[in-house]
Amino acid sequence: MIKVKNLKKQFGNNVVLKDISVAIEKGEVVTVIGPSGSGKSTFLRCINGLEEFNGGHIFVDNEDMADKNLNIDKLREKIGMVFQSFNLFPHLTVLENIILAPVTLKKMHKEEAKIKAKELLKKVGLEEKADFYPSSLSGGQKQRVAIARALAMNPEAMLFDEPTSALDPEMVGEVLQVMKSLAKDGMTMIVVTHEMGFAREVCDRVIFMADGEIVEQGSPNDVFLNPQHERTQNFLKVL
Ligand code: ADP
Ligand code: MG
Repeated sequence: MIKVKNLKKQFGNNVVLKDISVAIEKGEVVTVIGPSGSGKSTFLRCINGLEEFNGGHIFVDNEDMADKNLNIDKLREKIGMVFQSFNLFPHLTVLENIILAPVTLKKMHKEEAKIKAKELLKKVGLEEKADFYPSSLSGGQKQRVAIARALAMNPEAMLFDEPTSALDPEMVGEVLQVMKSLAKDGMTMIVVTHEMGFAREVCDRVIFMADGEIVEQGSPNDVFLNPQHERTQNFLKVL
């Protein structure tokens, strides 16, 4: 579904992604781990078209994001993203946050978008919060709204960039639960996280990144219990 070939990205002289190649199958759940500054967020942002890259290709459904003639907005609609910091619009209610993109970008009828938004809110366990403003929600609730908002565009894949890192510990579980149910429903997911329990239980493959490279990848058992590379071993030791 997503195929990355020889991806290169630099900020000035700082080469942040060095020749990354990897393919994500439809329905696959992939966890990306690695030290801070290793390029995990940049990698996700490139896949979502938030960041231009300097070399290589990213194919989404066989469409090349490096192709200058491509309608990048259409392609971006296929990939939802959830950030550490929620990024909800503070002046809009929960429901308005969720229907904004479908109504403005997809020209969905407002009433239809509302019905869909309520279904999504039910899915993330927040039906009763439709008319609340983000400021009145807990961090865990905000993140679940952010997931519902991304799902409202009917994405084919979802990217998560440390979705639980900004949360109080008691709220991590409710967000991981929603992500687990998404995975069970067959969603294609790339998740940057330090939640090893989630990775072990849910994901098909773990990718370990360091210094802008994929150092090692494999099943959760292979990577966590039997890491082959010293850098992976050292990273897992301090985790
Ligand atoms: P990670 O998510 O693994 O912590 P990032 O992708 O955020 O890593 O960052 C990788 C490197 O790219 C870091 O050296 C960071 O300073 C640099 N970087 C990230 N975003 C920018 C930016 N917008 N401008 C300049 N440098 C950036
Ligand atoms: Mg990051």
